[in-house]
Amino acid sequence: MTIRPESLLCPRPEGLYCPPGDFFIDPTRAVERAVITHGHSDHARSGHALALATHATLDIMAERYGEGFAGRAQPLKYGEVLNRDGVEVSLVPAGHVLGSAQVVVRGKGMTIVVSGDYKRRRDPTCKPFQPTPCDVFVSEATFALPVFRHPPDTEEIGKLMKSVRQFPERTHLVGAYVLGKAQRIICLLREAGYDKPIYVHGALERLNAVYEAHGVRLGRLALATAEGIGDLAGEIVIAPRSALQDRWARRFADPVSAFASGWMRVRARARQQGGELPLVISDHADWDELTGTVAELRPGELWITHGREEALARWASLNGIASRPLSLVGYEDEDA
Ligand SMILES: [Zn+2]
Ligand SMILES: [Zn+2]
Repeated sequence: MTIRPESLLCPRPEGLYCPPGDFFIDPTRAVERAVITHGHSDHARSGHALALATHATLDIMAERYGEGFAGRAQPLKYGEVLNRDGVEVSLVPAGHVLGSAQVVVRGKGMTIVVSGDYKRRRDPTCKPFQPTPCDVFVSEATFALPVFRHPPDTEEIGKLMKSVRQFPERTHLVGAYVLGKAQRIICLLREAGYDKPIYVHGALERLNAVYEAHGVRLGRLALATAEGIGDLAGEIVIAPRSALQDRWARRFADPVSAFASGWMRVRARARQQGGELPLVISDHADWDELTGTVAELRPGELWITHGREEALARWASLNGIASRPLSLVGYEDEDA
C-alpha cells in the first residue's frame, strides 16, 4: 500500500493541517499550533495558542497585533529542524518579504514543501528563495497566467527616478503595501543612488523599524505627516495605496501618484488604480518564476493553494507533473 501525502499534510477549512504533528500552516482561524510562513495578514493571524515562525515574522506580528498576539511565540531559525512526534519541521527562505519562509515537513518517508508566498528574483530586503527537493511542492498561483511577466524592478524604479527628475516641482506619491513592498522600494531607490530623505506615511513607521532592527538599511527616512514639512515638492513619499485618495494626499505639491503592484501589468487595472505612474513591482512569483520553480524542483506532485490554479495545473500536466488544486480560501492578494 502506498502512503498518500495527505496523511502527512491535508487541506482543512482552517488551512493545511499535519495530522501526525498536530499543527496547521498559515491557518485562517485561531488554532492550537500554527506554523506561520510570513507576516502578511492573510497568512499570519493572531490568537493561536502557539505560533511558530522566524524571528522576523514574529516581530512583525508583534508589531501588527501587539505583544500578546499568540499564547506562545516560538522562533525557529532558517534551517533549524524541529522534531514533533516523528515529524520534522524546518523553515527555509521564500524570498517574499523579511522573515518569509517555506515550511519543509518531513515524515512518513516523504518531504512536503509549503512555499507560502514566494518570488525568485533578488530582493535586497530578504534572503533569496531556497529551492528544496521534495515529493510534494505546495505553491501559490497569484500570477499564474502567461500574461504575467514582471519586468526587472530596476526598470520600474528607473521610471520613478526619471519622473522625479522631470517634474521637480511635484511630489511623487508612491502607493505600496506597507509590509515588504514599501521597504523594498526604499532599498531599490537607495541602490539606484537616491540618497535624499524618503518621506513615509505613519502606517509604515513601525514596520520600517522592524526591518532596520533586522539589518535592512533604509537610509534617511522622515515622517510625511510631521507638522511644518511643507508640500514636499520634488520629494518622494511612500504610503499605503488607500492613503493616495485620502484628504491627507491633498497637502502635497500637485502629486504624481504611482501605485506599485504586480497587477499593474493588467492595463485596465493600471488605468483604474495605478495613478499617473503605475509601477509593475511584485513580491509574488510571475508566470516564468512559478513554472521555472516547478520545472527546477520536479516534485512528484504539485499542490496549488490559491490564485489562478487552472493555468498552472494545465502547465504541470503538459509537463508530466501531477497537480492538485486545493482552492484554499481566505488568502487575499492584497500584498501582490
Ligand atoms: Zn504575502
Ligand atoms: Zn498571500
